[in-house]
Amino acid sequence: MSTEMNPRQLATDVLVVGTGGAGLRAAIELQRQGRQVLVVGKRPKADAHTVLAAGGINAALATMDPEDSWAIHAADTLKEGRMLGDPRAVELLCREAPRAIDELVTWGVPFAREPDGRLSQRYFGAHRYRRTCFVGDYTGQEIVRALVREVDRLRIPILERVYISDLLSRDGRINGALGFELATGGEVIVQASAVILATGGHIHIYRRSSSRRRENTGDGMALAYAAGATLADMELVQFHPSGMVWPNELEGTLVTEAVRGEGGRLLNRHGERFMQHYDAERMELSTRDRVALANYSEIVAGRGAEHGGIWLDVSHLPAEVIHSRLPRMAEQFRAIGVDITREPMEVAPTAHYSMGGIRVNPLTHATDVPGLYAAGEVAAGVHGANRLGGNSLAEILVFGRIVAEHAGAYAATQAAPPLDPMQLDQKRAALARLSQRGGATQRSLIAALQELMWVGCGVVRSAGALEETLVRIADIRRQAQHTSAGEPDLAAALDLQSMVLTAEATVRSALARTESRGAHQREDYPAIDPAWQRTILVQRDPAGDMRLADAALPAPSAEVYAAIDESEVGIVGRLVE
Ligand SMILES: Cc1cc2nc3c(=O)[nH]c(=O)nc-3n(C[C@H](O)[C@H](O)[C@H](O)COP(=O)(O)OP(=O)(O)OC[C@H]3O[C@@H](n4cnc5c(N)ncnc54)[C@H](O)[C@@H]3O)c2cc1C
Repeated sequence: MSTEMNPRQLATDVLVVGTGGAGLRAAIELQRQGRQVLVVGKRPKADAHTVLAAGGINAALATMDPEDSWAIHAADTLKEGRMLGDPRAVELLCREAPRAIDELVTWGVPFAREPDGRLSQRYFGAHRYRRTCFVGDYTGQEIVRALVREVDRLRIPILERVYISDLLSRDGRINGALGFELATGGEVIVQASAVILATGGHIHIYRRSSSRRRENTGDGMALAYAAGATLADMELVQFHPSGMVWPNELEGTLVTEAVRGEGGRLLNRHGERFMQHYDAERMELSTRDRVALANYSEIVAGRGAEHGGIWLDVSHLPAEVIHSRLPRMAEQFRAIGVDITREPMEVAPTAHYSMGGIRVNPLTHATDVPGLYAAGEVAAGVHGANRLGGNSLAEILVFGRIVAEHAGAYAATQAAPPLDPMQLDQKRAALARLSQRGGATQRSLIAALQELMWVGCGVVRSAGALEETLVRIADIRRQAQHTSAGEPDLAAALDLQSMVLTAEATVRSALARTESRGAHQREDYPAIDPAWQRTILVQRDPAGDMRLADAALPAPSAEVYAAIDESEVGIVGRLVE
């Protein structure tokens, strides 16, 4: 099979959708195996969401704390995920993370080092030992830079600014994908023996998120679901306690947890340090889910600040400390006219990470549809109900490689079935209908959906609000179908379609999980329920309706089980992005 570079009709062994860390790492592995690979991404290749990652990447290298081990890393990950992570995936991740760091060093990532040359490792919240490697506060950017360099060196073809709208299949097997060039609207058809989805998460379904515009719209989850794959843990969305509140275009942008680590105080509109009511012992240094909940509760109780957030204040610290320890934050707020050495910042919780996603085999990252694979934030399994800071970058590197090994081996023995002309015609016709929809209407419906999800399925959930949210999602879906006047915007129509689907899956799963665990907080079920140590699954039934099921999780290995420490690990002096 050859990778023809005719821009409209292409063929390859493995198609990788997504040029974030997971997609680029997968592509490198496929090329090394001698497979033909084509990568497509809807943004420029060096500018996927991964570049935002700041604080670092985890691996139990024990460069700073010799007592550390992969098993303790796995134990911390499972415990902090409130035992909803899949131990098989978590153990594999933690065993393989050191190898991922070695590779990154080989490819030129300039990780911080100690004077004697050892890699520096720092603390992240809820990790027992220092195991986070970093490059200043721009680790993600350096990792993407190194991966792109390697991809270019290996001459791996990448199509940038191509939007994948559909997966193609024949006789129950994935055999390619359909998309279009964002610049010209020109059709792109790729025939492939296997497809790897590395498309990132779905947090943009929320009005306030730490993602950039038009990213994290849940495309991969929607593509997989439509192709017959199962989604898992969709209700488990991580909310970071502090995102910017204004101006509009910066809403949700992360305000690093280091602000609280350095002594920042959370205050309500009455100037009260309200954390005393939520965690009097640890105050602002409590865990991420508790602080997010406290901020949210103060706001909804009407004790919020000027623009609907709450105050985060460091003005009691010496200005030199602020400039030396929090320079990026000082700059971020100076840009909007706020001098944080003298005035408080206004912040509120922001949707930060999709812990759920496509259900995959924990060891191979194959989905339950032959020929379809998924890795990175789009896949479920590793983080359970609460992701540990630094584990996502490790996940995208480790499972980017592993998924490629398995998808590549599959493609080597299973030639892609020919494309089905009838299916192609049907999908083209559906796209033509979507492209009639006015962009302005689609974008305003996206905004309505984001507001709805923020209010009805945000930091705190309850049955009444979730049920009403479902009704209103159906209403948005109906409104989206009407052809409307104005300049068409096919990408916006597709974004909305994926966002509606993933929002519905999130709300239905949140309704089903009648307990509070980690990031999933139910007002009407405030306690953890041991019977719910299960994964919630979302599937499409033969009539096309969404159906829920749930599944048990296996126990961790004896080695990891023994390492699970029941004591609480604090965040004092630790960054937790
Ligand atoms: C502010 C911030 C700080 C963070 N800091 C850290 C940290 O310090 N440590 C850590 O471990 N994690 C951190 N994270 C999380 C981490 O950055 C992400 O989870 C991770 O980078 C996801 O990588 P990915 O490859 O799975 O997806 P992404 O990087 O999101 O890439 C997805 C790719 O898919 C493409 N795509 C999507 N849909 C389509 C489509 N339909 N057609 C074509 N292409 C498509 C996108 O264009 C993109 O190229 C942080 C996140 C944020 C927001």
